[in-house]
Amino acid sequence: MKKIALILFSSLLVLNPSCKKKNGDGGINLFSLEDDKKLGAQVAAEIAANPAEYPILSETSYPTAYSHLRRITNSILNSGRVNHKDDFDWTVKIIRNDTILNAFCTPGGYIYVYTGIIKYLDTEDQLAGVMGHEIAHADRRHSTDAMTREYGLSILFDIVLGKNQGKLTEIAKGLSSLKYSRGNESEADEYSVIYLSGTGYQCNGAGGFFQKLLDANSGNCEAGGFLSTHPCPDNRVQAINEKATLLGCTTTPYTGTTYQDFKNSLP
Ligand SMILES: [Zn+2]
Repeated sequence: MKKIALILFSSLLVLNPSCKKKNGDGGINLFSLEDDKKLGAQVAAEIAANPAEYPILSETSYPTAYSHLRRITNSILNSGRVNHKDDFDWTVKIIRNDTILNAFCTPGGYIYVYTGIIKYLDTEDQLAGVMGHEIAHADRRHSTDAMTREYGLSILFDIVLGKNQGKLTEIAKGLSSLKYSRGNESEADEYSVIYLSGTGYQCNGAGGFFQKLLDANSGNCEAGGFLSTHPCPDNRVQAINEKATLLGCTTTPYTGTTYQDFKNSLP
């Protein structure tokens, strides 16, 4: 039985508690793009240094798996709809843990996907939807928002300046369970549809993941596990489908076999 753990992609960090839009980002952000990149690079280095918490799948040993994940990621980045496509590094890593149905990202576009969610999903559209959601958290700069709420601004600026190694280690450890605001979660869902509308994928693919979770729990948001600790996916499926209708983007499932090939390439 899978431990439907965490955070329906809740994972990342951002910062911008306010509501006005600025420069195409999700809100007023006190961090510069350079700060996002520095913070993300430092957190990513911490993650790389903690294989007990984050057993990163070796790219040397599993090049095919990484090429599939990059192919999916790049099609989203090349959708023409990612605001900071050329500003961030956009690196992807696979974490080897089949029991965790999650993905997360850092500011600056370092994205992590658990083998558990790759294996759980049925189609490439669904994974593209999840990746779109994570890319949105970094691109809309929700990650710094969530981190600021959790840790406070001064600590994060200290980390950008390389001043608080102990806290950096703590933040990296908690990254996979960092909570975003509901508003940021909704926006990440919405942007997943927007990004995928510029690809060949079914643009409401993220909804497929939520629907699968609902089906597994008989639609009961109080059923426990993941669904008891996160916003009920029910409304999210509806919002995603409404956005797809509004955009008029394709909701026809992709029928190729590349996703099965991807799953087969994992340990
Ligand atoms: Zn999220």
